[in-house]
Amino acid sequence: MRYFGGKGVCGGIAIGKISVLRRRDATVTRVKITDTASELERFEAARSQAIRELDELYEKALPEVGEAGAQIFDIHRMMLDDDDYNESIRTMIEKQQINAEYATALTADNFEAMFGAMDDSYMQARAADVRDISNRLIRVLSGTSEVETPSSGEKLIICADDLAPSETVALDKSRVLAFVTAHGSTNSHTAILARSMNIPAVIGVGDAFLASVRDGETAIVNGQAGEVTVSPDDEAMREAEKKLADDTAARQLLEELRGKKNITRDGTQIQIYANIGSVDNIGAVLLNDAGGIGLFRSEFLYLESSDFPSEEEQFGIYKRVLESMADKKVIIRTLDIGADKQVGYFGLDKEENPALGLRAIRICLTRPEVFITQLRALYRASAYGNLGIMFPMITSVTEIAEILEYCREVREDLTREGVAISDNVELGIMIETPAAAVISDKLAPMVDFFSVGTNDLTQYTLACDRQNPKLEEFCDTHHEAVLRLIEYAAKSAHAHGKWIGICGELAADFTLTKTFLQMGIDELSVSPPYVLKLRDTVRGIDLRE
Ligand code: PEP
Ligand code: MG
Repeated sequence: MRYFGGKGVCGGIAIGKISVLRRRDATVTRVKITDTASELERFEAARSQAIRELDELYEKALPEVGEAGAQIFDIHRMMLDDDDYNESIRTMIEKQQINAEYATALTADNFEAMFGAMDDSYMQARAADVRDISNRLIRVLSGTSEVETPSSGEKLIICADDLAPSETVALDKSRVLAFVTAHGSTNSHTAILARSMNIPAVIGVGDAFLASVRDGETAIVNGQAGEVTVSPDDEAMREAEKKLADDTAARQLLEELRGKKNITRDGTQIQIYANIGSVDNIGAVLLNDAGGIGLFRSEFLYLESSDFPSEEEQFGIYKRVLESMADKKVIIRTLDIGADKQVGYFGLDKEENPALGLRAIRICLTRPEVFITQLRALYRASAYGNLGIMFPMITSVTEIAEILEYCREVREDLTREGVAISDNVELGIMIETPAAAVISDKLAPMVDFFSVGTNDLTQYTLACDRQNPKLEEFCDTHHEAVLRLIEYAAKSAHAHGKWIGICGELAADFTLTKTFLQMGIDELSVSPPYVLKLRDTVRGIDLRE
C-alpha cells in the first residue's frame, strides 16, 4: 500500500483503477524580438483564435457538464479580454522585446501565483483558469499539445500532472471515477468541473505519485481529506463536504481598491510597494496590486542555501523578479546577514553583540568576492526590468564611496565583457542607523534614494534589542527620537532632489501614515497583505485637516 497526500478539492470517495494521462511537453523558450509591432499582432491573432475555440468548447460542453460546467469557457473568454492580463503580455512584448509565447507563459506564472496566493478557493480557481487560457494561447501561437484519452471502457481514476478544463471536458464523464493531479495545489480548474460533475478530486499530490503509479492499479481517492491510497488494504473512507473558504471581506476590499491610486483626499500621491523575501512572494505582490517591490531581502537566498549562491543562480532569481514586475520598480537589497540572520557557511565568528557586529554591508565590504558576485548578478539582471539596488546598515560617507566604486567596477567589467546592463539602475541606502539619519544631509547627494529601516533604526536609537521580547515595554515605536530622525532624513533627501521611502514595519502602522505623509515620505513598502489596507488609509487622509 502506498499513500499520497495532496489537496482535496471535491469531496467523496472513489475506489477504482488508475488511468494515467500522458501529455506532450510544450516548452516555451525566450526569444528576443526586434519587430514588437508584428509580435503584438501575432498575439492579437492568437487571442482571437483562442476566443473562437472557446465558443466551440462551450457548445460542446453544454450537453456534457450542463450549464454550470460549461460556463467555465465563458469565463475563459472573458479572461482573454481582461485588461490586466493582456496589458501584462503586451507590456512584456513591448518593453522587454520578448516573444508572445514567453510573455504569455510568464504572465501566466505571475497571475497563477497571484490568484494562487489567495485563501479563497473561488479565486484559486482563477489561477487554474489563467493557466488554461495561457496554455491555449501558447498552443495557438506555437503548436498543439494534446492528451491521450484512456481507451478502457470502465470507470477510471484519472491521474495527470495537471488537467485543464478543456481536457477534463474531453473526457467521457461517465467513465471518470475521480481526478488526481500531481500539480496544482492552487489549480482548481479540475476542481470546478469535478464539482460540477460531483466527482472526487485530489490535486497537488506531487511528481512521486505520477512516477510510481501504473495503469490498472487500484486506488482509493478521498476527495475531502486530500488522500490517495494506491494498492490499498480493505479500508472504508468517509464521504465528506467540499471545502469552500469564503473570505468575502478580503475579496470585497480587493475588488474595491484594485487599480485605484494611492492618493489622499487633498491630492497627495505616494507609492505603495511591497516587501518580499523570495521570488515565491511575487504572486502576493501582484495579487495585492503593489506598485513595485520596495525591499527584496536578498539574504534569504543565502539563508536558504547550503553554500554561497552562485552569480548564475542569483542572476536567474533577480531576472525572474524583474521580468515578473515588468517595468515596475524592484528594489533589491544586498546581502544583510549577521545579527539574527546567521549563515553557517560564511564561517563568521561568534560575537558578543551581534546586532552591533559584523553584519550586512560590513560583511560585504570585508568580503569583496561575495559582494562583487551579488553586484554582478544584479547588474546583469538589470537589463530585464526596472532595478534599484539598496545597501543596508550604512553609517558613513566612506562606506558609500566604497560601494559606489565597487558598482562602477562591476559595471565596467560587465560592459567590457559585452553584457547588456541598464543604465538606469537607482542606487539607494537604508537609513537604519541613527548615524545615517543624522548625516543624511551628507549621504543624500551620493545616492538616488533613501529607504528607512525602522526595525533597526528603532533598535539602535532606543538601545532596545529587537529580538528581546522583554524590552517591548521600553521600545516605544512612536518614540519622538525615531520620528525626528525620519523627518530629518526626509528633509535631507528632498533638499537634494532624492526620494525617500520607509520599508521597516512602521510603514504598515496606519496610525502613523498621516505623520509620514506630512513629512513628505514618497513611498511606503509593506508586507503584501497590507498594501490595500494602506491604500485605503491613504485615501481616507486629508493633509489639510
Ligand atoms: C529594517 O531594519 O527596518 C529593515 C527593513 O530591515 P530588516 O528588518 O531586514 O533588518
Ligand atoms: Mg534592517
